[in-house]
Amino acid sequence: MNIIGFPRIGEKRELKKALESFWTKKMSENELLCVAKELRTLHWSYQKKCPFVVVNDFSLYDNMLDLSYALGAIPARFRNLKGLELYFAMARGNGENVACEMTKWFNTNYHFVVPELSKHDCYTVNAEKIINEYNEAKSLGYAPKISLIGLFTYIGLSKTSDNSSKKDIFPHLKKVYLELIKTLSTLEKGTIIEFHEPIFVKGENEFFPYIKEVYNEICTFGVKAIVTTYFEASNEATKILVETNIEGLGLDFLYGENNLTSLQLIANAGKKLYAGLIDGRNIWVANLDSKLSILDKISLIVPKDLIHIGTSCSLLHVPFSKDSEIKMDKEILSWLSFAKEKVRELELLESLFRNGIVDSNKEAYEFNKTINDGRKQSQKIHDTKVRERIANLVITERKESFQARIKTQRKELGYPDLATTTIGSFPQTPELRALRQKYKKGEIDTDTYENGIKEYITECIRFQEEIGLDVLVHGEPERNDMVEYFGEQMKGFVFSQNGWVQSYGSRCVKPPIIYGDTSRPESMTLKWSSFAQSLSKKIVKGMLTGPVTILNWSFVRDDLARKEVCKQLSLCIADEISDLQNGGIRIIQVDEAAFKEGYPLREENIKEYETWALECFKISSSVAKPQTQIHTHMCYSEFNDIIKTIEAMDADVISIETARSGNELLKIFKQVGYANEVGPGVYDIHSPRIPSVDEIYKQIKLLLEVLPKEQLWINPDCGLKTRKWEEVKPSLKNMIEAVKKIRSEG
Ligand code: GLN
Ligand code: ZN
Repeated sequence: MNIIGFPRIGEKRELKKALESFWTKKMSENELLCVAKELRTLHWSYQKKCPFVVVNDFSLYDNMLDLSYALGAIPARFRNLKGLELYFAMARGNGENVACEMTKWFNTNYHFVVPELSKHDCYTVNAEKIINEYNEAKSLGYAPKISLIGLFTYIGLSKTSDNSSKKDIFPHLKKVYLELIKTLSTLEKGTIIEFHEPIFVKGENEFFPYIKEVYNEICTFGVKAIVTTYFEASNEATKILVETNIEGLGLDFLYGENNLTSLQLIANAGKKLYAGLIDGRNIWVANLDSKLSILDKISLIVPKDLIHIGTSCSLLHVPFSKDSEIKMDKEILSWLSFAKEKVRELELLESLFRNGIVDSNKEAYEFNKTINDGRKQSQKIHDTKVRERIANLVITERKESFQARIKTQRKELGYPDLATTTIGSFPQTPELRALRQKYKKGEIDTDTYENGIKEYITECIRFQEEIGLDVLVHGEPERNDMVEYFGEQMKGFVFSQNGWVQSYGSRCVKPPIIYGDTSRPESMTLKWSSFAQSLSKKIVKGMLTGPVTILNWSFVRDDLARKEVCKQLSLCIADEISDLQNGGIRIIQVDEAAFKEGYPLREENIKEYETWALECFKISSSVAKPQTQIHTHMCYSEFNDIIKTIEAMDADVISIETARSGNELLKIFKQVGYANEVGPGVYDIHSPRIPSVDEIYKQIKLLLEVLPKEQLWINPDCGLKTRKWEEVKPSLKNMIEAVKKIRSEG
């Protein structure tokens, strides 16, 4: 049995709380380390039936950061610091020094700290953390397996901080990485190390020629090396790895079914196979019959004693345990399996695989079957009306071409060139959060709550009118989260109370769970949008989250293809657009913040994703009348590889996050002759800094070098909910001033 990693934030988010207390100096370093130690001890206790427990999967912030620290890959600006101060400064910045960049770990919602490398760095090994955790596990009587990010994944995900190329850096990095392994090899004879190399699933890269020599050198230190990939198949790397001296390979057979085609190579080489079969990314009770049938296929080729059953990836990506879910519908809850439950599933699968159905596992096996059969037949997941709508669905374009639509819209909506707007949310103040909390707990009645929200909206509208924005928003005060808010109002969704998943550092998210066919019984946003519209003669933009984003930020049912689930969601959003436009809302924004993050890891699967993701956006937006203007917003700036798809989405206006790149990233829109309107963020909302009029003025000038004023909108680069009013007010005022100045120049 092989567990690739266990969630570390703690059942009750103990680590989060400890970290935040430490950062605000309410907790000492010693206390923090004690909490961490207790968590590790508890997490290992769940793994006691496994031949080894995972060590070094734990982290105070992030495993990539841990490795940077262990290799001495410290950006120059932090080199005067030491210990935890240094570690957290790299993660979070300190004073003048900006933090290292963070980005998503493959196609998950987990963010890692991006290594910043330069060929001038002098690396030095610091293996203290790994050694301590190793010894800690030993002293508790466990056999440890070290979890470590592989050299290829580490360099592959890094960026260079000067003009050195990764190729130049590779030899230096390799040297220090091997020193680290050498140090770890002295822990005991045959130290087991599982090298995480998910980068291999993306296919060949410039470092592939070095795989063989690096892993062979690693083996010369006498460690037992397992090289593990996940999230997709990694056949190209497997071909090379079977020729090295590593002990075994870990492969994901759930998200990388194609790995099955590599089995013969593994068998021929006599390598151990760590077969990822228990889903580390989703939360449904395993269908043990289907796992056993995959195992049948595997064991036809690989000898049974070389097969070790494992999780498909680290369990970091699922919540801790469903023990404390007391409010959820019992039937739906019975279908779920979080990390702690998954370890039990692993044990059961192992026993079934080795012994067949015997007295000791029969009851559990039958229970698992009952749950799976029950789920399949449950009334809760099927909705014939939804199925019929989908069966009769014809995917269409909008009724008129963009050129025709925009003429009508410009006339009817009457906004000027360089129209000013915002992305939707205004600051979520402590008062607002308290109001929502009180309402949730039943401490205030609906009227009091709604009046509070209305007051906030009224203030937002008043402020926007006062500073002279062209297109207003209601401010989204009623939304806790841009997906949860919609999920809560749709059928087919359920919410856990405690299903937290680490997003980065101490930040966790609680993804909605889509368990059945989805529909939208009533309008979800019209009430607030039309209230806001009633307060102003200016246009108030309606604000929706798009189907692809709802899908990508939820745990999705595994009994229906993702694209089918997404189609159902698209119909819900289409219904909402229809209600909004009938209710007098003339501009509607469909946020697709997570459109890009759903992209498959392997090139060959991209086309298919793009096709259905695009179709889904169209199912939603094509209900808009020609005169209804559809906006979309995407939270990133790199559009080069997806620009054709963006173009095909045919939103009338797209707002994007290009504020930090001058006009560089906008150029692609010009290159492809993108004709629809664009709102490239003119200032970065991720920082509390207030941009000056001059700065924004210059930024707009830069944008005008690329696109004409008729095609440009002026807005911040994302929603303002995480900012404070003291920051938002002057920033937006300056934005308007800058636009006025440009307009006055003619
Ligand atoms: N309308 C949302 C907001 O302003 C968009 C946020 C996002 O795309 N992340 O908050
Ligand atoms: Zn955004």
